[in-house]
Amino acid sequence: MISKLPNVTDSIFTIMSRLSQEHGAINLAQGFPNFSVDPILKDLHIKAIQEDKNQYAPMAGLLSLRAAISNMTQQQHKAFYNPENEICLTAGATQAIYCAIQTVVHPGDEVIIFTPAYDCYEPAIQLAGGKTISIPMTLPDFTIDWQEVKDKITSRTKMIMINTPHNPSGNVLSHQDMLILEEIVVTNNLVLLSDEVYEHIIYDGIQHRSAARYRGLLERSFITGSFGKTFHVTGWKMGYCLAPRHLMEEFYKIHQYMVFCVSHPVQDAMAHYLQKPERYLDLGKFYQRKRGLFLNLIQESKFTFKPAQGSYFQLLDYSAITDEGDFDFARRLTIEHKIASIPISVFMNGADPKILRFCFAKKDEDIIAAAKILNSL
Ligand code: PMP
Ligand code: GLN
Repeated sequence: MISKLPNVTDSIFTIMSRLSQEHGAINLAQGFPNFSVDPILKDLHIKAIQEDKNQYAPMAGLLSLRAAISNMTQQQHKAFYNPENEICLTAGATQAIYCAIQTVVHPGDEVIIFTPAYDCYEPAIQLAGGKTISIPMTLPDFTIDWQEVKDKITSRTKMIMINTPHNPSGNVLSHQDMLILEEIVVTNNLVLLSDEVYEHIIYDGIQHRSAARYRGLLERSFITGSFGKTFHVTGWKMGYCLAPRHLMEEFYKIHQYMVFCVSHPVQDAMAHYLQKPERYLDLGKFYQRKRGLFLNLIQESKFTFKPAQGSYFQLLDYSAITDEGDFDFARRLTIEHKIASIPISVFMNGADPKILRFCFAKKDEDIIAAAKILNSL
């Protein structure tokens, strides 16, 4: 059989988590919280199952949950998405991203992404027959060179994908970035796919500038979110997509035959849990403390860093320690020093700035143990 994705192997998350387990390392590689979930949320899920909410949900998701997401978006961004026809619940943000790309991209269409880019973007573009146009972010600050974006737009450009707060750098696009992006998207009649899964995980009083806040973008964007990130339940695989009606109409057609609907009892639990806004509004504060704990402890280490503005990832530059490639160094750290991380070259077409990504969505005791190891290098 001819492979549709000949260059794809196990993802770096699978590889590093497996290696971490094999060697009994602290896993700061794959991005998932390793602490316990709010018992209230667990009970809501169990209750939904016991109440026999165990059959198919509506195709686009429970209306009660779509209404709760609409309220949250209205409150956060002053943008209205109609629960009836502008919101869809998906199997994590991953399915929302895949489905949005299938909705928009025809064979031969070009899609601009910024590297380092989250790993599910490019294969989805490829499977739709599209061509990925990668634009490297400008280091050391992981900013976007908008002039380069303008230069790379052709008559085949269909879509731009952004991710803010950004995995793996933690950077947040500014109001100024979003204004330029809006101008580019509108002028060139493009679609935007805005991956905002870390929307509530943001620090130091910085504001998340959702695409929903900008009229020109709102009218042309798919926005993805993830309850896995927001409520510490990555294994429940519950995400969502927001888009104006004319785009969502087409998204629904594909979602309907990709999965039809996603977990009914999980949606029911989320609909109840979302009624208290502090559950997502306090998330930045919650993770800022963990970021502070981690960074204070490694202040005297040989790693250099700029504190993440958002997400639960921290990049550490190790160039003062070794000139090994990042994959080799990450492997050696896991096997010899028992701490797993993610080499970011895999997200940037092999470019290797000697930086590793560490996830601090972990129990304090693991953050403390990890810092001790990093200080010893
Ligand atoms: N986008 C980004 C930037 C992510 O980091 C992740 C998860 N790590 C996803 C999308 C996928 O989210 P989910 O787990 O809800 O599918
Ligand atoms: N999004 C998670 C990360 O960046 C990984 C999710 C996955 O394993 N696919 O670490």
